[in-house]
Amino acid sequence: MVRPIKDIVIIGGGTAGWLTAGVIAARHQGRIKAGSFSVTLIESPTVKIIGVGEGTWPTIRTTLEKMGVSETDFFRNCDGAFKQGGKFVGWTTGAPGDSYYHPLMLPQGFTQVNLAPHWLRNEHGLSFCDAVCPQGKLCDDGLAPKTITTPEYQAVANYSYHLDAAKFAPFLQRHCTEKLGVRHLLADVETVSQAENGDVKSVTTKQAGEVSADLWVDCTGFNAILLGKTLGVAFNDCSDVLFCDNALAVQVPFESDDAPMESQTIATAQTAGWIWDIALPTRRGIGYVYSSHHQSDEEAADVLARYVGPRFKELSPRKIPIRAGHREIFWKNNVVAVGLAAGFLEPLEASAIVLGELSAKLIAEHMPANREVMDLVAARFNEVTSYRWGRIIDFLKLHYVLTKRTDTQFWIDNVDPASVPDRLKNLLHLWKYQSPWFFDEFDRLEEVFPAASYQYVLYGMGFRTDVEPQDNVGTEAQAEMFMKENLATTRKMQSQLPKNRELIQKIHTYGLQPI
Ligand SMILES: Cc1cc2nc3c(=O)[nH]c(=O)nc-3n(C[C@H](O)[C@H](O)[C@H](O)COP(=O)(O)OP(=O)(O)OC[C@H]3O[C@@H](n4cnc5c(N)ncnc54)[C@H](O)[C@@H]3O)c2cc1C
Repeated sequence: MVRPIKDIVIIGGGTAGWLTAGVIAARHQGRIKAGSFSVTLIESPTVKIIGVGEGTWPTIRTTLEKMGVSETDFFRNCDGAFKQGGKFVGWTTGAPGDSYYHPLMLPQGFTQVNLAPHWLRNEHGLSFCDAVCPQGKLCDDGLAPKTITTPEYQAVANYSYHLDAAKFAPFLQRHCTEKLGVRHLLADVETVSQAENGDVKSVTTKQAGEVSADLWVDCTGFNAILLGKTLGVAFNDCSDVLFCDNALAVQVPFESDDAPMESQTIATAQTAGWIWDIALPTRRGIGYVYSSHHQSDEEAADVLARYVGPRFKELSPRKIPIRAGHREIFWKNNVVAVGLAAGFLEPLEASAIVLGELSAKLIAEHMPANREVMDLVAARFNEVTSYRWGRIIDFLKLHYVLTKRTDTQFWIDNVDPASVPDRLKNLLHLWKYQSPWFFDEFDRLEEVFPAASYQYVLYGMGFRTDVEPQDNVGTEAQAEMFMKENLATTRKMQSQLPKNRELIQKIHTYGLQPI
């Protein structure tokens, strides 16, 4: 008899560990309740979680909803706030007024007409974002993406969250252990024993003795104790493409409890990297991501101090080293890595948590029935996950390679063709003559960044596609209609949506309507 896969052990209790536990446990609730399947999470009481990672992608709403989390509870317990996209300041020229949005809404009529060629022929005096989608204006006006009567997880304008990473993991832990039957062991994994075929048989912990499992999920962060240290899966370094290798992070209180709150991550380009600025109800999370090959730590601290202002003196910045890259494969033998154990590039565009969610979903949906078929599932997981890492690297590099800045070596080095992946180089060449659209190069069911994201960044940064007058011929009337419709929708949303902070305060007081 082939042994079924029934005991899953996740090591690591950060965002990746608890999201993975929740996604797997929710998907296999029936079997957990019947006692034929178990999910256990082992977490060190001494090794802290990374505690950063406060921007997410809209997939997080479906992930939490499927886990049975109440959105109101999320807002109240995780210092949760709305995120409607990214505002990129100073990336193209660095001149005053240089900014663009990468919103979370698709362009109007995206599946029917590609509006990009029409906008390129006639911009109507509007940025690409404002011509095709209301969200840039909503962000400019400090508006929320829904109202207090919009039910939980539903949206007027698409959104994800900003959250306090130090509160999110304990919040998920309570939900997973109290509602989904996940077992929780607070213990340090000290040694790992393997079977002859290389599979991990068991781990020995300091506080809870020996634990065995059929499938292990390595969520031990940068330690990668199973996939990296035990199974020796190599790390593919990407620092020749993405240069930032340090982050300096601070938490900055608001001037007052009712100070306006932005609902977009603000990413402001600096001399050797960029600064993130994320507004939570109680504070702002701000951090400078920079390249130590282009700037010393002291200079970087000065850059951050200038951004934060006089209050910087009262704060204690935390330095977090980054090694851009990912494991060569993500599932080997009976070990699969999720989160930082699988890799990390840099915080731009908040691509890490979403990749963790997608990986957890893939594991949960394709849970191998037994060890015999596990290698087949692993091969598929590795193919899909490698593809996703590749596309994220391309997309992050896109933000740097389109710059026209030549004020520092950091920006000059970033446009060096030797630092640009071949696939991105080819696409940039292609996009000189045709605009990306949803079925072109991004044809997977779950692309992390769809073609619309490329459009927002390309045209936000002044890239020109040399569209022929005849391109998209026959769709002009439809395109004009969608662009007009967009302006009408924008005005309607501007008049109906509440201020961002006002809605968050209402959610704390009254709650959203449960679904
Ligand atoms: C500067 C910075 C900014 C970021 N910003 C974003 C962002 O805006 N958006 C985004 O999506 N992502 C962001 N990320 C990434 C994000 O923080 C992580 O993807 C996310 O927090 C998941 O981390 P993790 O759970 O994999 O690891 P961790 O939080 O490091 O958790 C590791 C866990 O493993 C446990 N552990 C380790 N060793 C052992 C052991 N021997 N025995 C038992 N347990 C062990 C620890 O106790 C801990 O519970 C950012 C990362 C950095 C560095």
